[in-house]
Amino acid sequence: MPSSPLLYKIYAVKYAGPFRRPVAKVLWNTDWDKETHINYYLWVIKGKDETLIVDCGMAPALANRMQLEGYVNPVDALARIGVDASKTKKVVITHVNFDHVSGIELFPEATIYIQEREFNFWIKDPIAQKPPFLMSTDPVGNAHLAKLEGTERLVLVKGDQVILPGIELLLAPGHTPGLQVVAVNTAQGTAILGSDCAHIFRNYKEEIPSCFIADMVSWMKTYDKLKAKVSSPELLFPGHDTKMLTDYPKVAEDITRLV
Ligand SMILES: [Zn+2]
Repeated sequence: MPSSPLLYKIYAVKYAGPFRRPVAKVLWNTDWDKETHINYYLWVIKGKDETLIVDCGMAPALANRMQLEGYVNPVDALARIGVDASKTKKVVITHVNFDHVSGIELFPEATIYIQEREFNFWIKDPIAQKPPFLMSTDPVGNAHLAKLEGTERLVLVKGDQVILPGIELLLAPGHTPGLQVVAVNTAQGTAILGSDCAHIFRNYKEEIPSCFIADMVSWMKTYDKLKAKVSSPELLFPGHDTKMLTDYPKVAEDITRLV
């Protein structure tokens, strides 16, 4: 008899927003005259014995400096569903943009999983210091990340890798050179936390990325890869869509259960 597969639940934790954005910013070259809203999130994957955090949110100092509307310290947001950031053991960083990596020091005991390609680009490649990339960089968060190199707290992932039974990291470049997403075994099948492979659900549906593009060709291949992997299209989640907060069961303030 095969043992029953490990199943996980996935939660979206909004830590800032909503923010008004031109549609053309989140949906490349589309609807220049229209606006939409986005939120900032991190995510929690809960299994029977394991809790993983996906992305770190933003550190309070940077949020203060940016006067970020609706900001809640990710530590306080996670506490609402019984997650203690200071004791979290595993954090997946999808990519090294400030809204996903700045809060890294809020997880002082966690092992950090990041693609080697992503780490090397943002921490070591001089091109990452050019203006289009600096716009989405938090030097303080990046310095905390860089400090972990060579320690057991940093796992540099090379391509697709299963890190726990039912949890697989997938290399998904396009938005950034080494973005990774998380494929999760759930009661509804394989779900994917796709982070900024899509800002909003429409990116996946219409196969148009956001305007923040490192490699458009890779990005289109990533869409094919993720759509082939996920059990159904509605289990493929974006990074910033306000629907993740409004269209799913609420489990605590600004926290919903996606799957
Ligand atoms: Zn983002």
